Amino acid sequence: MNTVDKQLSHTKTLLTNATLVLPDRIIQSDLAIESGIITEIKAKINPTGFSDSYNCEGKYILPGFIDIHNHGAVGFDFSFGQYDLKTDSFSIEETAVKDGIERALRFYAQKGVTKVLLTSMAAPLEKLEFTFAQLKSYIDQKQPLYQLIGGINLEGTFLKDPHYAGAQNPKFFYEADGAVIDRLQAASGDLLRIVNVPPEHGQKGLELIKDLHQRNIVIAGGHTAAYGDEFQAAVDAGLSLSVHFFNGPSRSSTKGFRMGGAEQIMLKSDKVSTEIICDGYHVGPAHVRDTIARKEASRVIMITDSMFANGVDGLESFSLFGLKGAVSKNREYLQMMGVQDTLFGSVLASVKGFNNVFKWLMTEMPGVWYRHHDAMSLEEALCMTSMMFSGNPARLLGMDQMKDGVPGTGRVEVGKSADLIVADVDVDLAENFVIDKVFVKGEVS
Ligand SMILES: [Zn+2]
Repeated sequence: MNTVDKQLSHTKTLLTNATLVLPDRIIQSDLAIESGIITEIKAKINPTGFSDSYNCEGKYILPGFIDIHNHGAVGFDFSFGQYDLKTDSFSIEETAVKDGIERALRFYAQKGVTKVLLTSMAAPLEKLEFTFAQLKSYIDQKQPLYQLIGGINLEGTFLKDPHYAGAQNPKFFYEADGAVIDRLQAASGDLLRIVNVPPEHGQKGLELIKDLHQRNIVIAGGHTAAYGDEFQAAVDAGLSLSVHFFNGPSRSSTKGFRMGGAEQIMLKSDKVSTEIICDGYHVGPAHVRDTIARKEASRVIMITDSMFANGVDGLESFSLFGLKGAVSKNREYLQMMGVQDTLFGSVLASVKGFNNVFKWLMTEMPGVWYRHHDAMSLEEALCMTSMMFSGNPARLLGMDQMKDGVPGTGRVEVGKSADLIVADVDVDLAENFVIDKVFVKGEVS
C-alpha cells in the first residue's frame, strides 16, 4: 500500500465556512470528506472526529478541472517523451518518460487539474504503443498522482488531409481501421477515452465510428476536410465532440452546397460538444462568447491543448519531427515557424484559462455573429466557467456518475469524489481567480 492509499482509508477532512460553486448557484456551507469522497454538505457540520480541518472563510470551493486535451508540459510530451533543451531532441527512455509523466502531473495539479486526458499527436504506431504502455505501467504501479490520469485522447493518428494537419505530421497518418484501436488498447490496457476520426474517411470511417461507439469511446472530429454532409453522417453514427473548435483547422464553408463545412455542423448540432482552447489567442474572446451563446454553455468544454513547452523556462524555439516552433515574445503562445498564422499547440495552464473565461463572461463585449454580449454577474460567470471546465467534460466521458465502484467527479456534490479546488476570487485583482489548495481524491496535492 503506498502512502496515498494508506491516508485515504483513514482521513476525515472538514472544510468550513466555504462558498461552494454548484452548477447553477453558489451556497455558503461546510463540506466533509471521508476516504476521498464528499460525504456531507451542510451549513454547520459538527467538527468532532475529523483528522484535518480547514477554515475556508472567504474562499470558494469548486470541482477540480478536467482537461480532456493536453499533450504534455514542463518538457514532457506524451507522444515523443522527455525534451532536452540542450540537444533540442526527445528521449523516449523509460526512466525519462516516467519522470516526465510525474513532473507533468504535478504541474497540472498545481494548476487546478484533478483529471487529465493525455493526448497523442500523429506518430509512428510503435512509438505510441510504447508511451501508452508506459502510462499503463505508471498507473498499475500507482506512481505519484496517478489518479489524475483520466485516460488517453487519440488526436492525430487518423488525420487524413495534410491541408488540415495543423502541427501534426502527415507521415504518420493511418487509415481508419479498428485494428489500430485494438493495438493501442492492448498496449495501454484500454485507456483510450476519446478518438479523433475526421469524417472524410468515407464508409470505413463510419464503420470505425460505430465500432468506437460500441466500445464506449467518445468519437471526436477535428483537423478535418469534411463537408457538412459528411460531418453530419459521422454525428448520426455517434460522433459527439468537435476538436478545438475554430482551430485545427477544419473545413468551414458558408456556401449553399453539401450543408456547408465541418465547422457549420459543429456549431449547429445539439449532439456535438465543442472543445475551445481558451488562451485568448487560438480563439478570440468575442468568438468564445458567440460559441457559448450558440451552443449553450452545457455543450462547451474548455481545454488547454498544452504542449511540452508549457512551463519550460528559457525555451525559445524547438523542433518536433522536422517542424519548427517558437515561443511568442510574451510567452503566451507557440507559433509554427515559417507558416503564417499557424499556432503550435499552446502553453496554457488550466488556471490561466479559467481566469480568461471567467473574465470574458463578466465583461460586456460586442460579438462577431451576435451583436452584443452582456456582462454576467460574478455568480453566474463563476458557475458557468466551472461547468465548462469540470461538469461538462465529466459528463462527456461518463465520469460524472459512479462506475465500477469508482465515484463520479466534476461536481461539488455528496457521493462524488473529493476532487476539489479551494480558491480566492477577487474581481478587483489582475488575476480574479487564485488557487489556494487542490484536493485529489480528498488529499491535498
Ligand atoms: Zn490539434
